[in-house]
Amino acid sequence: MFDTNEVPHRRFNPLTNEWLLVSPHRAKRPWQGQVEDAPPDTRPQYDPTCYLCPGNERIGGNKNPDYKGTFVFDNDFPALLTDVESAEDTRHPLLKAHTERGICRVICFSPRHDWTLAHMPVKDIRRVVDTWAQETTTLATENPWLTYVQVFENKGAMMGASNPHPHGQIWATEHFSQEVTKEDAAQKAYFEAHGVTLLSEYLAEEQRRQERIVFANAHWTVLVPFWAVWPFEVLLVANHPVQMIADLDDAGRDDLAEAVSQITIRYDNIFKTSFPYSMGFHQAPVNSGEQPHWHLHAHFYPPLLRSATVKKFMVGYEMLGTPQRDITAETAAARLREQATERFA
Ligand SMILES: [Zn+2]
Ligand SMILES: [Zn+2]
Repeated sequence: MFDTNEVPHRRFNPLTNEWLLVSPHRAKRPWQGQVEDAPPDTRPQYDPTCYLCPGNERIGGNKNPDYKGTFVFDNDFPALLTDVESAEDTRHPLLKAHTERGICRVICFSPRHDWTLAHMPVKDIRRVVDTWAQETTTLATENPWLTYVQVFENKGAMMGASNPHPHGQIWATEHFSQEVTKEDAAQKAYFEAHGVTLLSEYLAEEQRRQERIVFANAHWTVLVPFWAVWPFEVLLVANHPVQMIADLDDAGRDDLAEAVSQITIRYDNIFKTSFPYSMGFHQAPVNSGEQPHWHLHAHFYPPLLRSATVKKFMVGYEMLGTPQRDITAETAAARLREQATERFA
């Protein structure tokens, strides 16, 4: 045993079988808590130039309906296409390539141009949860060649989001992505060895220790994972092993909406800014039979480190070696826990 608050050490991520480097001694300098000026968010409720606002025309000529809740459409510039014939390049074993088919959709979370998930009432986020569930089911049913439906949101200019209107994406693919491949293998190996899901056992240990849990309700827990890489990275874990968002009952969906609301509000409150992040759900694969080893969860990966403008970069040793962090997961969890549960005005 050693003091993880003092000694540089490596931590293991059992979901991906990867390591990260933690350097807690570097974060010993006192926390200044300073708030640097972030540009004030002065978006209007409706922006006539926004291609996601209700009633507006998108590039390509399609017109958005006057939607009141969520609105889903096929991405006008999709990264993946459906009409690709399966083929591979086998000319040299070191130059492997294979065609990939997929479907890309956009989900507007709300008609309000000036909102984010952190502004939305929990009942409105619940509609987003239902849309995530419905889209996953529909895509999988209508396209039996799909094996995975990736639901995600890229929020904020710092993360490269091209439009501030609250929206997320779905990329559904013929093959597993890299992260899903890693997590599928790790969860399967754990389930076969122990007869319970990896995240059930992990969550039980976090509940015993109470060091990294930020928020919990009857069906969901928000925690900073032991192996977090990004400064305020969190994991949303279903309290009971469920495979798909669509498998959640009413209460489970309400609690998921509350968990999403709570983490996004706390994020915004840390630096009094609209907190950027990439988030996404890891559900079980689709059209692939029973998947008892999969345990529904979501990852939030925010880049901010010390203020509204100071961002963590994954460069240098992290590109050449392994990811590294200074503030520990326990410190980050404490800071998130102490935030107000209402968004700053
Ligand atoms: Zn808009
Ligand atoms: Zn995952």
